[in-house]
Amino acid sequence: MTRKNVIWLTLWAGLMFAGLSACANAASEAGGLPTLAPTMTALPPVVPTDVPAADPIALPPVNWDDLDPFRAAMRPAFAGDIDAFATRNRYYIQARLTFEEGVALLRGAQRVRYTNRSADTLREIVFRLYPNLPALAGRMVVYQTEVNGVPVETALAERDTALIVPLETPLAPGDSVEITMQFSVAAERGMYASYGAFGYQREVFSGPEWYPVLSVYEEGRGWWMERATPTGDAVYSESGLYEVFFTAPENFVVVMSGTELDSFPAGEGMTTHHIVSGPMRDSLVVASPILGKTTDYVDDIAVNVYYWPGGEVAAEQVLRIASDAVRIFNEQFGPYPFAELDVVETFNFTGIEYPGMIIIADRVWKPGDEFLETATAHEVGHQWFYSVIGNNQVDHPWLDESLTSFTEYVYLREVYGEKRFKDATQSDRDWYNYYKGTGAPDLPLNLPVAAYDDSNYGVLIYVKGPLFYLELERLLGQERFRAALQLYYQRHRYEVVTSADVLRAFEDATGEDLDAIFYQWVGEFEGLDPAVIPNERAQAQP
Ligand SMILES: [Zn+2]
Repeated sequence: MTRKNVIWLTLWAGLMFAGLSACANAASEAGGLPTLAPTMTALPPVVPTDVPAADPIALPPVNWDDLDPFRAAMRPAFAGDIDAFATRNRYYIQARLTFEEGVALLRGAQRVRYTNRSADTLREIVFRLYPNLPALAGRMVVYQTEVNGVPVETALAERDTALIVPLETPLAPGDSVEITMQFSVAAERGMYASYGAFGYQREVFSGPEWYPVLSVYEEGRGWWMERATPTGDAVYSESGLYEVFFTAPENFVVVMSGTELDSFPAGEGMTTHHIVSGPMRDSLVVASPILGKTTDYVDDIAVNVYYWPGGEVAAEQVLRIASDAVRIFNEQFGPYPFAELDVVETFNFTGIEYPGMIIIADRVWKPGDEFLETATAHEVGHQWFYSVIGNNQVDHPWLDESLTSFTEYVYLREVYGEKRFKDATQSDRDWYNYYKGTGAPDLPLNLPVAAYDDSNYGVLIYVKGPLFYLELERLLGQERFRAALQLYYQRHRYEVVTSADVLRAFEDATGEDLDAIFYQWVGEFEGLDPAVIPNERAQAQP
């Protein structure tokens, strides 16, 4: 997600609060209605669309040992990365997209194999039903769930965003379990909810996390079940391999995280697209009959840009920007491992990242638009920091967003030289100083999205955050700083990181003791040397 998303939200919320604070106070004093948290745009009606029942899909058995199809989704030099994922999250999905009476319907079934990589014995498996979040404003229903072929009663939690699958036989460390489920997803016409990520409008369907997604089991803590606020990104998941058979109207272009192997007629005017992925932590599908396509290659990486009618000229610019960004980030941070990267024009608000795929708003899809350039570079940067290296975006948004915002500086410096780089960083410094000058709290970076408010999330995570990396680069020098980022990327590819992992990578690569500066900017976190925390602060602890 780009900073303009949150900046716009900040301005909007500021106006709302300025206009409403008096009456909100009056209402609470008078025992009136509770004040709702602001969202990007109006929420859709709270009565969700019921999904018509459909015949269940009979899934074939899956040979989990056959890893060969997935190698096609990797650059040849990284095809071997697939091997380690035989016993990681595995998805085999069949789904069908239709449009009925103003509702886009996705009916599917999935066979998922989960391996317990923790030291704990598990008594349940948790999936997240992200379309049920108010921020996505869709409706996902799961039924006929089976564990190793035996039907089970599942339970819903967190306002239907978490599906708990009980295990009659507890899952010991190292053991695997196979779960099948039928699911349906409904998206009403319109992209009403925050960021405009999920739904369809005109003839463009956009479906982030369009299937039940395995949540993350954290050793000693349990399954992650938190419900994201409308601000920020909602997903926290682990990398896995996807094989998908996605059926859509035959005149539709289907773009999905991963690589299409083949497609074939499915009858009734429909086509089935057979898509596989490398190790990816979630999946986006965009389907539409209006998409044009232009492609360029960075080494052996296909960069595809999909655009709407009239968007051809801007698409060629986006292709150049995205290709430049991929080439620069390959050199600066380490190689992008996947065979393909897709950029798609959609109805979203500004730009959002997904594994192997980014979406950019049609509003800014104009030749020469400056924001089109920074948004594209930013979302491409997320392929390194969010997609390949993952993190809990709800609890530690700085881990991907602050570093990805720093990648915008890197892009500007490499493409345009020192002056553009200095202008951009100076403008961020001015903004951050202005913010502090107002007396507003200079909160640490390592806080959950919910700990910030709409007036400071943007400036702290997207402006103070990249300035922290800039300060590290100044202290360490460009060469050592780059070596540290490369170590970080190499060490944690396909994994989930914490703040301590960032600190360790920078210390290991440079031999410096960096706890104090991390404390100063990032704040406290597990793994930080407690000696750097000032005494009065430590004594204030209960
Ligand atoms: Zn972002």
